Amino acid sequence: MIWNEEIETMSRGDIEALQSERLVKLAAYVYDRVPFYKQAFDEAGVSPADVKSIDDVTKLPFTTKEQMRASYPFKMFAVPMNQVIRTHASSGTTGKPTVVGYTRNDIDVWAECVARCFGLSGAKPGDIFQNAYGYGLFTGGLGMHYGAELMGLNTIPVSGGNTARQMLLLQDFQTNIMACTPSYSLTLADALLGAGIDPADLPVRSFILGAEPWTDVMRAEIEQKLHADAVNIYGLSEIMGPGVSNECIEAKDGMHLMEDHFLCEIIDPETGNPVAEGEVGELVITTLTKEAIPLIRYRTKDLCSITTEKCVCGRTHARMSRILGRADDMLIIRGVNVFPSQIEATMLGMEELSPHYKLILSRKDRLDTLEIQPEVSEDFFRAVDGLDGLKNSPLAKGLQAEIEKQMKESLLVGAKVTLIAPGTAPRSEGGKIKRLEDQR
Ligand code: AMP
Ligand code: ZN
Repeated sequence: MIWNEEIETMSRGDIEALQSERLVKLAAYVYDRVPFYKQAFDEAGVSPADVKSIDDVTKLPFTTKEQMRASYPFKMFAVPMNQVIRTHASSGTTGKPTVVGYTRNDIDVWAECVARCFGLSGAKPGDIFQNAYGYGLFTGGLGMHYGAELMGLNTIPVSGGNTARQMLLLQDFQTNIMACTPSYSLTLADALLGAGIDPADLPVRSFILGAEPWTDVMRAEIEQKLHADAVNIYGLSEIMGPGVSNECIEAKDGMHLMEDHFLCEIIDPETGNPVAEGEVGELVITTLTKEAIPLIRYRTKDLCSITTEKCVCGRTHARMSRILGRADDMLIIRGVNVFPSQIEATMLGMEELSPHYKLILSRKDRLDTLEIQPEVSEDFFRAVDGLDGLKNSPLAKGLQAEIEKQMKESLLVGAKVTLIAPGTAPRSEGGKIKRLEDQR
């Protein structure tokens, strides 16, 4: 079903007129209310009066995650704190998370966008929805939750993990729609098949999958094993959370963007210039209706393309491709964002280590697994008597356990640590250093 027929099937001309009207208001709103934007506009030599339509968006300055982090925790807020009714946070490049807040209207808009996503994914009022996105500071769980309730789904807030319980609910509650990460849907498929449960006998029709990159090859495997449709949902906490875009079940060919709330551009990440429609570049989003933390031209660092070609489902909102990569070095491990700089910052405080390391990403039991291989210092290597000691001595084992503990605290996701000998981690040979070995 199309949740909001009037908005989702508007003519392109009407969508762009609505975006222009909202952008004009937004420029004045952020200039008046957020000192960060007043300064950024002034420095760029642009005033809100220069913004007359969406064509003028390229005159406005970009916003980056680093700038949001520097405004930690509340400096980018455009409303008094007593109008903020929800705060979420996502992991950042250092120990400090990026904080996002929502007014009541922001929460309502979010629920509206997510309700559209459920419509796009083949859900209808009365369906039973098993929400296996994590509840907490992460936007996934609660973001999906409010949209599901708005549509009138019977919403089961089971949260992530605990596969035995997920399987029990799938069977006993007769779940129709489930949301989780794509990698977890495969874990679940294997667990069901391993327990002798045939997914074809379950009434689950759609899996709404997002929060991490996946491919059409994975989709084929998921759909075949789970006997259900698998649709892609995209979002990021800085902009809102899940629900910025979602594929339609009819075409499964690109995610319809909620264009009445988000003005999207694709730029060349090196030059910042717009690329031609259909070409791959970095997605840049301006929030047209957000009240608590409106963002101008936010650099998502996600690489994709956008098309405004007609879609078979009848919706007119533009579609973005799958995320094809990142313009920075962020890794996503089981839905958690991890930056190599966080790993470095944690290692820096440890005198037993050199500043060099290697990262290995692999897929074990369907789940992404991170292995960190820090190089030990010459002194430590001598103290454990060489390679054998590095593997087997209690001293090395103790250090390894300590690093694993500190990494878990800093990255919020577990990583295996294997110590390596001095001089064996990659060094830069002038160009970009390649620390990551992706075995997935
Ligand atoms: P967070 O703010 O923690 O929710 O993380 C947002 C990031 O997760 C995005 O910038 C993307 O890099 C990634 N992400 C979210 N949804 C998807 C998706 N469907 N496909 C690929 N990457 C995604
Ligand atoms: Zn469509």
